[in-house]
Amino acid sequence: VATVSCLLPSIRNSLEPSIWKLLEEIAQEAEHKGWHLYIVGGAVRDLLLTRNYEKVLLQDIDLVVDGFHRSADVGAGVELASTIQKKYSNCRLSVHGEFQTAALLWHKDPEFGSLWLDIATSRTEFYPYPAANPEVEASSIRQDLYRRDFTINALAVRLTPPREGELLDFFGGLLDLKAKEVRVLHANSFIEDPTRIYRAVRFAVRLKFEIEPQTEAYIRYAIESGIYEKLRLKNHVAPALTTRLKAELKYILEANYWKPALQLLSELDALKCLHNQVSLDDKIWWQIRCASRWLKYLDPDNKIGHWLIRLEILISQINIKERKQLAQNLQLPKESLERIEIVNTLSSEIQENLKKYDKTSEKYKQLYRYKLPDLMLVAVNCNKKIRRIIWQYLTQWSKVESPLNGNDLKRMGYKPGPKYKMVLDRLLSLTLDGEIQSKEEAEIIVREMMKELN
Ligand code: ATP
Repeated sequence: VATVSCLLPSIRNSLEPSIWKLLEEIAQEAEHKGWHLYIVGGAVRDLLLTRNYEKVLLQDIDLVVDGFHRSADVGAGVELASTIQKKYSNCRLSVHGEFQTAALLWHKDPEFGSLWLDIATSRTEFYPYPAANPEVEASSIRQDLYRRDFTINALAVRLTPPREGELLDFFGGLLDLKAKEVRVLHANSFIEDPTRIYRAVRFAVRLKFEIEPQTEAYIRYAIESGIYEKLRLKNHVAPALTTRLKAELKYILEANYWKPALQLLSELDALKCLHNQVSLDDKIWWQIRCASRWLKYLDPDNKIGHWLIRLEILISQINIKERKQLAQNLQLPKESLERIEIVNTLSSEIQENLKKYDKTSEKYKQLYRYKLPDLMLVAVNCNKKIRRIIWQYLTQWSKVESPLNGNDLKRMGYKPGPKYKMVLDRLLSLTLDGEIQSKEEAEIIVREMMKELN
């Protein structure tokens, strides 16, 4: 074990005092039960990367317990978490997974803010076949670290005595952190779990690291072997894997570094893990960037879920039947599934209809019944002329209002009724076509129309 002499002081300095106190308390509890407690994974990585800086905001901390003597102690993580929860009434305990991992959750807490603390019993994993759900059993901390994705995520710091504060680095993670390299722990890693390919890309881009050459070769080998495609065709992909794949995709497509990440996935040919018809050719790459630019402007608060639109464009290359299947497997939200179902027909329908009309008001009528995401997908999929019309609709026409409203008609002495809608629609059309500009002009039109309608 490579040890960096006691890391406790630097961890203590980097963490909020309340969180440090909590970790000490959990460690004491574990020690009392005769177990060892470790802080592991991303938290250790981030703490080591920012050691010289002031504070690290950790909202997601993974702890692992080991050192038990009986196999019955597989519930150690849950037991420890329950003991702690009894002392903190403001946190929620959630136990999940077959192997019973416990999580303590604080939400907008005055002391801890939003904190997710996982406490797991150390375990080892076996993959009965590629991309399967792993089978798990209790084990030592070394085995637990060996099942992890990359050396930089397979570091642990012991929080219990003896040698508390010692860094456990069985696989050279510290050197890789220094060399800024993402390195896998063993050759089979990507065959076992393709989501690790997406994670490798995510960490490389986010941390500005390189994927270590041998690791890159393993990625390429796993993809070229066609294993994921074979599993997909046989419908043999474990549901938990698709859920994880979706989470990684979402993470990447939501991040501010989505562009380089997507490019790197494409360079590695890793988009094939989704489906062998997915690639980032010039057209798709342009469509995704164009939609993202539009979305930034038209939906600055990201209410639509820009990542979903990016994903929908990415998979739009797959034939419709298999695209729907993939979207279902990835458990995309209902509105996304609906869009996927209709987008092709919608594109041709809108293009055909827009060609027929010249007046702004007529084009407006062709577009106003569609939602923004539908129009976005159509816009990136059609020619410049149509795209321009949709852009004008979204940025200008959809904001135009009739100079008069229902109250104005009432004030003019007309009784509310179905005629109101006809008159107001007409006023809006005339405004869109630039035929009326003022309230006075609008009132003249209203009087004429009402006379005709009576
Ligand atoms: P982030 O800061 O992005 O959350 P993280 O390292 O904390 O990074 P998580 O997704 O929260 O990432 O995972 C926690 C830990 O679990 C990782 O550090 C890694 O050790 C392990 N892990 C997660 N996903 C996998 C996987 N697919 N294969 C192996 N180990 C994994």
